[in-house]
Amino acid sequence: MADCIFCMLANGQIPTATIYEDEDFRVILDANPATRGHALILPKAHFANVFEMPEDLTAKAAVLAKKMAAHMSEQLQCDGFNIVQNNGEAAGQTVFHYHVHLIPRYKDGPRIVANWPQSPLTDEAKEELVRELKV
Ligand code: AMP
Ligand code: ZN
Repeated sequence: MADCIFCMLANGQIPTATIYEDEDFRVILDANPATRGHALILPKAHFANVFEMPEDLTAKAAVLAKKMAAHMSEQLQCDGFNIVQNNGEAAGQTVFHYHVHLIPRYKDGPRIVANWPQSPLTDEAKEELVRELKV
């Protein structure tokens, strides 16, 4: 898609710090890393978010995320790993070309991602949500 920076990065029209590439994806280092090694999986084709991605490509992205996380964990000797994928502005997405964050985590590193405020699920909310969401 014209004017999409991630299309240009994924397809090599702008130089990137690439750590993996195949026919469908490029994995690059994030320009503003949350931790050492923070990388992004970018599909070469443009999809704004996971809802636009075809299922076969979504499945390939999940398998690639697992493989990259294993490889990066080994190389970086990190202590944990977040695989994060934001959809929509309200969810923190700022670049509207599907991407998966690969975020190595370190014991003494910053507390990021899974530190959102939580409150207990009430019985009433639980019943209502199960009614609403059960497939
Ligand atoms: P999100 O908030 O999930 O949309 O993530 C967008 C990510 O893209 C952020 O972590 C940015 O630091 C990163 N980013 C934006 N522009 C570039 C770029 N030119 N090269 C590499 N990473 C980028
Ligand atoms: Zn794009």
